[in-house]
Amino acid sequence: MNSSPLLAARALSAGYGDFQALFSVDFDVFAGEVVALIGANGAGKSTMLKSFVGLVPIRAGTVTFDGRDISKMPAHALASQGLALVPEGRRLFRGMTVEDNLRVAADRARRLPAGVPAWTLERLYDLFPILGERRGQAVEKLSGGQQQMVAIGRALITQPKLLLCDEISLGLAPRVIGEIYAMLPVIQQSGTAILLVEQDVTLASRSSNRICCLLEGRIVLSGRSSEISREAIAKAYFGVG
Ligand code: ATP
Repeated sequence: MNSSPLLAARALSAGYGDFQALFSVDFDVFAGEVVALIGANGAGKSTMLKSFVGLVPIRAGTVTFDGRDISKMPAHALASQGLALVPEGRRLFRGMTVEDNLRVAADRARRLPAGVPAWTLERLYDLFPILGERRGQAVEKLSGGQQQMVAIGRALITQPKLLLCDEISLGLAPRVIGEIYAMLPVIQQSGTAILLVEQDVTLASRSSNRICCLLEGRIVLSGRSSEISREAIAKAYFGVG
């Protein structure tokens, strides 16, 4: 693991109007790792992700990505820096085909150094073969799981160094969640780091190298997923002890 983080939040505070949702959060993601961010409803997980990509303004503190201060960078500029969000609710372009959803996103792609393998349409269809089969269909004709695959593909085709996934399992059947989560190691092995916001603590723990727990806008637990006990996670999650 590199000694300097790929993404680093320092003393990050953010909120909405009079409401403060994040309180002086310090948080890192290192190149190539999978980090799971857990916490109860309203803990601030989505706010944190959105503050990284310029969708919620930062009130205090800084966010650096790949050594560059991105605290004030507008959301549309971040894809070309190598930061991609799979938003909660997927937010696909309705009325457009699977392939057009992917192609539109490719226009915002980061320029890759020579020799770095790119996430092409072909490679995405290898990752999720059903998308290749359905490439000509309008996205609203797809199942929820297939739509989630398009949302992930749309983020990957921007060639991210870090993929931010906001509750990608939400509302999906366990079998479909299993199919999607099975692809995360493939994405990780391609060199893309992943930050997962996940409600299912067991899934989060099993799928990540490190886990962080937010409670009412503060990080209350952080460590290697393989070393943190379920009891410690449960206590942090509910703010007990
Ligand atoms: P969930 O799992 O329910 O999505 P979360 O941990 O992602 O929860 P956030 O969505 O980040 O939590 O919300 C953190 C706090 O900010 C909550 O109290 C929420 O009500 C509040 N909040 C979120 N979005 C807004 C908004 N647009 N305007 C006002 N308050 C908001």
